[in-house]
Amino acid sequence: MGNPKGFMEVARKEAGNRPVNERVDDYGEVEQVLNDDDRRLQASRCMDCGIPFCHWACPVSSKIPEWQDALYKGDYALASKILHSTNSFPEFTGRVCPAPCEKSCVLAIHEESVTIRENEASTVEKAFELGLIKPRIPKKRTGKKVAIIGSGPAGLSAADLLNQAGHSVTVFERDDAVGGLLRYGIPDFKLNKKVIDRRVQIFETEGIEFKTNVMVGENISGKDILKQFDAVILAIGAMKPRDLASEGREMSGIYFAMEYLTQQNKINRGVSYNGQRIDAKGQKVLVIGGGDTGSDCVGTANRQKAASVTQIEILPKPPAKRAKGNPWPYWPNVLKTSSSHDEGCERMWSMSTRRFIGENGVLKGVEVAEVEWTNENGKWNMKEIEGTTRVLEADLVFLSMGFVHPVHEGVIQELGLELDSRGNIKVDDSFATSKKGVFAAGDAANGASLVVTAISKGRGAAEKVHNFLMGK
Ligand SMILES: Cc1cc2nc3c(=O)[nH]c(=O)nc-3n(C[C@H](O)[C@H](O)[C@H](O)COP(=O)(O)OP(=O)(O)OC[C@H]3O[C@@H](n4cnc5c(N)ncnc54)[C@H](O)[C@@H]3O)c2cc1C
Ligand code: SF4
Repeated sequence: MGNPKGFMEVARKEAGNRPVNERVDDYGEVEQVLNDDDRRLQASRCMDCGIPFCHWACPVSSKIPEWQDALYKGDYALASKILHSTNSFPEFTGRVCPAPCEKSCVLAIHEESVTIRENEASTVEKAFELGLIKPRIPKKRTGKKVAIIGSGPAGLSAADLLNQAGHSVTVFERDDAVGGLLRYGIPDFKLNKKVIDRRVQIFETEGIEFKTNVMVGENISGKDILKQFDAVILAIGAMKPRDLASEGREMSGIYFAMEYLTQQNKINRGVSYNGQRIDAKGQKVLVIGGGDTGSDCVGTANRQKAASVTQIEILPKPPAKRAKGNPWPYWPNVLKTSSSHDEGCERMWSMSTRRFIGENGVLKGVEVAEVEWTNENGKWNMKEIEGTTRVLEADLVFLSMGFVHPVHEGVIQELGLELDSRGNIKVDDSFATSKKGVFAAGDAANGASLVVTAISKGRGAAEKVHNFLMGK
């Protein structure tokens, strides 16, 4: 620990975002960066606590105090090495992780937490800048072949570890480019796609083979893959969106969030997209669902110059500060305001959607009603409040109510895999599915979660697949 008084002498300083009036005219990353000296001072705020709760809260168990110390001392090689020892992609998590580590930082009990996420992004970017992150070509090959289906963070992190263990890894991806939701879900203003390309190029040099535009279960059967490979990991995500079966749902102007976000990501990438152009320019936009995906729709609609953007959520407005019963070091269920909300958006809570209203099949508005939530014996009940029905004008609606489970049609059904009670691929403690030699990781087995969770699960699956291949 370089400076034992750092947390008393240095205040938390965030890099902040680019000015709203500038950033809404482009899709460049919103977040700015601190200079190296300020960044190292921020790392000095880490207290190197006896029990680092940040490490406990981080899904990849990042050794946070250790790399804060190395960062403070300017030893970027060591900081990057420690960071990569538990996380294949700190450049992704450093940008998009909601940072449960910071919510559990001991400083956060009385003061403001260490800027762990920003420090992570800075460390890995500095390591790239200094040429410290180079291809690590495996010295020996085991002769075992592994197929990974799906190239999101779960599939990529599994590919990384298995390739480093000497197995020959092929990643199959149905899209035209690698990355999963990092590529075509998360908007460019949160994650510049060059960041994915940079890592994929290293992986290719290291020997990982990527086969894009291949839908397993359609272009090649799962059974053929099983014949050609010694083990298979399904990392196909949880892509089945939650729908709203309300009156008028069939009208034009109502889209799933992912249809909208994928299209804009493809336009930014300069590749063709399926279906009609969804353009919010001059339109009244209503986003249904108050989570992160909804917030990404808000940011995209603002960049497309929507006339107005409104976001509704069926749950009550969260408190500004931790409520009783939600203590540190647990995740705080508090109001979250994203950079997209700051760019302009009316937000409403406790609002349920009754029906879609339109003329000649074209959407004009959405009838909503306020709801009241009561708790009886730990069970939440929702009741519409009489007399609160109203119509919100809308030309475009984006359904952002989460994802139910992976798409069952295709490779899951073809291989006859068992599902759990939520419709995800059922796996045991070894990430093994009901079919021998087939494993599953990430959102496909967990349900929709976070990038960092997918990385953690992909790495966990890789270890178990390695044991399976080596007969351990
Ligand atoms: C809009 C949006 C924004 C998000 N923002 C954040 C955020 O800011 N921070 C955060 O931590 N998390 C965020 N998430 C969640 C996060 O992106 C996911 O939890 C994570 O990407 C899951 O990783 P995965 O590898 O399991 O699956 P995915 O990333 O979903 O990747 C699955 C891949 O499998 C491919 N695939 C599917 N079926 C087949 C097949 N049969 N053959 C070949 N390929 C196939 C898909 O095309 C896809 O590329 C966001 C999610 C969405 C939808
Ligand atoms: S991956 Fe997320 S939780 Fe873990 S240290 Fe980085 S920002 Fe924190």
